[in-house]
Amino acid sequence: MLTIRCANCKTKLWKYNKLGKGEVLRCHKARITKMLDAREQDGAIDCPCGSRIGIDKGTNWKMIKNAFNYSGKKVSKL
Ligand SMILES: [Zn+2]
Repeated sequence: MLTIRCANCKTKLWKYNKLGKGEVLRCHKARITKMLDAREQDGAIDCPCGSRIGIDKGTNWKMIKNAFNYSGKKVSKL
């Protein structure tokens, strides 16, 4: 499980069940296990500090490079 944080203010945004070892380029909405402080607006997802974190692509958020950090463990693909 990964905790996604804003790179600007370190606010915890959501928890994400990342599969595989690749980079976090997008977050599939179905695998977001808990929304914390993120705000959905204008077809995007933002941190409460105003920093834009991702763009709504329907089933996933396309993550904006350098807008976020994460910590935690990725889950190996079965
Ligand atoms: Zn922030």
